[in-house]
Amino acid sequence: MAEAGSFAERVKQQADIVRVVGEYVRLKKSGQNFTGLCPFHSEKTPSFAVHPVKQIYHCFGCGVGGDVFSFVREMEKCEFPEAVRVVAEKCGIPIPRPRERSPEERRENQQRAALVEMHREAAAFFMKQLEGTLEGKAARAYLEDRGLDAEAIARFGLGFAPSGGEVLYRHLKQKYPDKLIDVSGLVSRDQSGSGRFYDRFRRRMMFPIANEAGKIVAFGGRALGDDMPKYLNSSETPIYSKSNILYHLDRAKEGMRRQDLAILVEGYMDAIGVARAGITNVVASCGTSLAESQAKLLARFTRRVVVNYDPDAAGQAATERSIVLLLEQGFDVRVLALPGKADPDKFIREQGAEAYRKLLESAAEYVDYLIGRARQMDLSTGEGKLRAVNFLMPYVQRIPNRLLRSEWATRIAQQLRVEEPVLRESLRKAAAERRGEVKTQPELVGRGAKQAERRLIQMLTEAEGYRERLASELREGGLYQGLETERIFAALLEACAQGAAPDATALANALPESDRRLWFEIVFEAAAESNWDEAESCLAVLRRRKAKAELDAVQRQIESQTAGTGAAAGTLLRELLARKQELRRRLEELGG
Ligand SMILES: [Zn+2]
Repeated sequence: MAEAGSFAERVKQQADIVRVVGEYVRLKKSGQNFTGLCPFHSEKTPSFAVHPVKQIYHCFGCGVGGDVFSFVREMEKCEFPEAVRVVAEKCGIPIPRPRERSPEERRENQQRAALVEMHREAAAFFMKQLEGTLEGKAARAYLEDRGLDAEAIARFGLGFAPSGGEVLYRHLKQKYPDKLIDVSGLVSRDQSGSGRFYDRFRRRMMFPIANEAGKIVAFGGRALGDDMPKYLNSSETPIYSKSNILYHLDRAKEGMRRQDLAILVEGYMDAIGVARAGITNVVASCGTSLAESQAKLLARFTRRVVVNYDPDAAGQAATERSIVLLLEQGFDVRVLALPGKADPDKFIREQGAEAYRKLLESAAEYVDYLIGRARQMDLSTGEGKLRAVNFLMPYVQRIPNRLLRSEWATRIAQQLRVEEPVLRESLRKAAAERRGEVKTQPELVGRGAKQAERRLIQMLTEAEGYRERLASELREGGLYQGLETERIFAALLEACAQGAAPDATALANALPESDRRLWFEIVFEAAAESNWDEAESCLAVLRRRKAKAELDAVQRQIESQTAGTGAAAGTLLRELLARKQELRRRLEELGG
């Protein structure tokens, strides 16, 4: 919980929930709220709402709700302190230095900082090599041949690793101890026993790889000649884990958010080529295939992606693996397969940015792409068709929506001309099942707390002027008891008793699940300004209701008494009748 005066409390006050949620969910202004498709359940029409003033969210479909922290906790599957940190970072709120951690942690932090510093140094070194050495000049010619001019070299910080063998190592050694250089991922150790260091990258074009925050944490090196491997990355280090990095993300994230779309390519050259064509929302997975953590990283910025991998066999396999991963993360996936077996970089150089843009816009839905792939298989025999169907089946099973699955099954059957009942049956089964499917969403709950109750709850939440007075009226005679909203009133009154303006999320957390939903629904209603007169008339409704309920109870008692005999029964009956008269009068006074 965000305690008063704590860092979390400050973050919550400064954070804009619309902006934070907007990084995960495409939100549209709708009245006083923002709405979008719920990220917590599968839906086609938006029932997820964010309240910019109250700084809360609520899904009218599945009932989840809370504040900016609970949202981030759910999305990132993290603990509260981590959620606070994430929100603070997203909103540019400086995070106070944590209290001194264990000596171990402190050492690790220092090491990471030193490694980042060393990478900046190395990047400058590689750039200088490209400028100032003979070898570097030859490398420059190679870059120019690939259409990379001085502007591009400067923009992407490209450099050159000389062939010498320990040029970088000697450079770094002037400033850093061997122990640190050893874990930098920039050097390797001689395996023959001497244990000497030599440069990991030799005679390679160097591409600095930055993390999300734009800090260089690794390098990718492309061989100039026929050296193998063609691409070589830094080894894993305390600041670099290949599967947690998307190349160019630091520069792409704004564009991805703005356009709610990411272009996913394979390598640095592709990302650079696409970015230079003016399409900045491009990232490269820098590997043969996307890793799950990369998909999750991407999902923080958009859930719409066009996969544009190389069209060779490896690229196709990578595309297919990536589709699976992206679907599992709830992405809307399209695939761009460039004509003429071109990779994006080559295509843009040869055909121009405009041609690429056009193709990008018409990129196929992933299912169409996959059907196209299946159709390239031999479909002349039953066996061949079975292979094609088996190729498609896992994808069909990963489509989150059942109706869509069944639609695709039909489409596949048509496209592959599958008539065999056995194949149809397995397609139908694949469409009906879904592995790891989330249980059906809770049905829409339309619980009808009466209007007066809703208004009183809203007033207790918002009316600064007479909250106390309203609270004491409600407490007196237990006006809220027996109401559907009883527990909400009780929690609100308790918050009022502590003298605080009730916090929507804290209150939600104090309520059982079923009430939490109702609470959020009420809080989200567009409430008009209230005044004490309205409060009075709502209180009157509750008073009448209470008097009526008492009257009913007395009437039932009277009915059971009339069956009895004797003096005692007679006395009680008289008392009950008197009470009934009194309640009747009371009700008349109350206008009921
Ligand atoms: Zn939902």
